[in-house]
Amino acid sequence: MRQNIRFGRFAGIPVGASWSAIVTLAIIADLVAASALPAAVPGQSAALYWGAGVAVAAAFLASLLAHELAHALVARRHGIKIRSVTLWMLGGVTQLDGDPRTPQADLQIALAGPAMSLLAGAAFVGAAAAISAAGGPRVAVAAAMWLALMNGVLAAFNLLPGAPLDGGRVLRAMLWHHWADRHRAERGATSAGRAIGAMLAILGVAEVLLTTDLIGGLWLLLLGWFMASAAAAEQGAASARALLAGVRVADVMTPDPDLAPSWLTVADFIRQFGGRSGQPAFPVIGPGGGLAGVVTVARLSRVAHPGRDQVRLGQLALPVPEEYLASPDDPAARLLGRDPLGGEVVAVVEDGGQITGLVTASNIQHALRWRKLAGATVSAAARPAPHW
Ligand SMILES: [Zn+2]
Repeated sequence: MRQNIRFGRFAGIPVGASWSAIVTLAIIADLVAASALPAAVPGQSAALYWGAGVAVAAAFLASLLAHELAHALVARRHGIKIRSVTLWMLGGVTQLDGDPRTPQADLQIALAGPAMSLLAGAAFVGAAAAISAAGGPRVAVAAAMWLALMNGVLAAFNLLPGAPLDGGRVLRAMLWHHWADRHRAERGATSAGRAIGAMLAILGVAEVLLTTDLIGGLWLLLLGWFMASAAAAEQGAASARALLAGVRVADVMTPDPDLAPSWLTVADFIRQFGGRSGQPAFPVIGPGGGLAGVVTVARLSRVAHPGRDQVRLGQLALPVPEEYLASPDDPAARLLGRDPLGGEVVAVVEDGGQITGLVTASNIQHALRWRKLAGATVSAAARPAPHW
């Protein structure tokens, strides 16, 4: 999930939103200003309804962020690094860099979000009661009650027992504890997620056909479709992780890759390396020998002929974020599920400050294919069941 809008860091975690969250903000503001508030407190001015609608939408997105941050902070307490927390059209996403190591950790991380939503719901009930007792505006009371209700709905919906919802994580943790086999538990939770997603989508279609609530039906259809496809993607990722269990980065990387000096022009580089290197991408090194980025063959080929004598590789290099650096002994499964830089580079491998390898998307594909052929067992992914 791309963060187009950055809100800053909360407890060191980059928090932001994708553009699509603005759609959600508008839909909620419209729902509250045009239907919910006029129904609850009739006879007020449109300006008041809309002012309250926008405030409620913003407060609801803030409570979504609180839900995600609760996941993130509990995950961090269990030793998992947090990449980001991002709002988007269908809610919030917390990107974790790694997996919970035990079913207990899995369960606690999953429950933290809905627990926070319930807490937020209770806080909004309290706010409504306080405003009402103080003789405050009735629109404010209705707005706080709406927020309380929505946080409750959010907690309840998220507890549906199918991945990628929190309830799916709860199911996974319980199955994992029961079977002592993480991969099998993951398959169970993602299968449940596909089934629930399909059911929601069917309900959405029924709503479109049988009732007048076109928007509500389409939204349910979209949500169901998204959930089923996310569950399917997660199932694929889980199988890939199981295949790479026990495999190190050093086992999948292209060792000692050809390096591209940043000061060379594109023309000189093609002259020196053209046809000799089989790599689809190159780490770019600066004059001091340090990593200055990566450049892909596709990116080189986009430089038009007259420019090739002027453009230097340093100008073309894509920066390498820290999470794209790996050590040879890191587990290869950690590299799964990330967007390759320039469509190619999954990791630059460094050992003691030296670039010793390059992992591309095709390296990963290759490794997965061979592990599958070799009939890699998934037992390595299973762990002894601890008690909780
Ligand atoms: Zn959640």
